[in-house]
Amino acid sequence: MADSAARHSALAEAAGVPELIEKKGLLVVYPNKAAYEADALAWSLRRENNVVWKTMERPELVALCPELGERYQYGAFIVDGAHCRSPGGYVAALAQYAENKGVRYISGCAEKFLIDGGKISGVVYNGNKIACDHLVIAGGMGSVELASQIGDRLPLVSERGYHVEVPGAEGGVSIPVMMSDLKFGITPMTGGLRAAGQVEFALKGAAPDWRRARILLDCLREGLPRLKIGGFSTTNHWMGNRPSTPDCLPVIGPSPKVKGVYYATGHGHLGLVSAPLTAEFIARLIAGDVVPEVAPYTVERFCRGGKE
Ligand SMILES: Cc1cc2nc3c(=O)[nH]c(=O)nc-3n(C[C@H](O)[C@H](O)[C@H](O)COP(=O)(O)OP(=O)(O)OC[C@H]3O[C@@H](n4cnc5c(N)ncnc54)[C@H](O)[C@@H]3O)c2cc1C
Repeated sequence: MADSAARHSALAEAAGVPELIEKKGLLVVYPNKAAYEADALAWSLRRENNVVWKTMERPELVALCPELGERYQYGAFIVDGAHCRSPGGYVAALAQYAENKGVRYISGCAEKFLIDGGKISGVVYNGNKIACDHLVIAGGMGSVELASQIGDRLPLVSERGYHVEVPGAEGGVSIPVMMSDLKFGITPMTGGLRAAGQVEFALKGAAPDWRRARILLDCLREGLPRLKIGGFSTTNHWMGNRPSTPDCLPVIGPSPKVKGVYYATGHGHLGLVSAPLTAEFIARLIAGDVVPEVAPYTVERFCRGGKE
């Protein structure tokens, strides 16, 4: 993930939307210095991975985020942090860019795979068939069912999460801020000020529990008490999946069961951040390269030892 911001900036530039990836840093705020010090493990991992930050007392925090509530007295500013101002707009621009380069899209639900002599030969979708030499399973939580058809075990669980976006409030905060104790972050987006974070485990197919989104709105009010924020009905809110593995690593690489099948899934909390490098690995694998970097991420790790 170290060069993720640079990769996304280059892609956004190529797709004609450079303004959607902004490099303004990331502010992580704590109630006090002791709370920051209690988070030492996270910061030591960041140090090992060459992340650079500057710790700050309240006056410096307020200079960066004037709306910040009294609750926060200490913080750390991650200098090289970057954010995407509109994941939806960015992905749409990338899709158009790929189409301009000759990619053809077919929409439908993949229902069944055609396998010939241990090699993938096609996909059945919405009752239609399409022949293929290579297949990438990148279906988020839907990947579990698709992998089981291939014969691979993919133990994904969704760490569900909610977003609450307050239209018109994005001008109140100019950089992304993580409220460490409330486990959520706020980001100025093209469509408003977005609060997202926290984790919910729910049964497969369970309806969203909007109380969780309301909690996020309450957290937003707590963190930025002076900002004018309307009621829940004035916000845009939605629930999403974070397809997560037991070891928190993604699943990237070939299927050991069927030749020509590759996995690009299970990125949990970091699907957008990880996407450019995962895509590069998959492209190299399909082109026939040896890609030793994917060794820790293969689906086979869930089949070694123990019961399937
Ligand atoms: C609240 C929240 C905040 C987040 N914040 C961040 C963040 O700050 N940074 C970050 O990097 N990540 C973040 N994420 C995580 C990120 O959203 C996920 O990691 C990412 O969406 C996973 O992408 P994916 O393409 O693997 O799966 P998905 O986005 O779930 O997409 C899978 C797609 O496959 C389709 N599909 C499934 N089955 C089939 C089938 N049989 N046939 C055809 N299509 C199928 C689905 O309809 C879906 O469109 C956040 C997630 C949440 C919920």
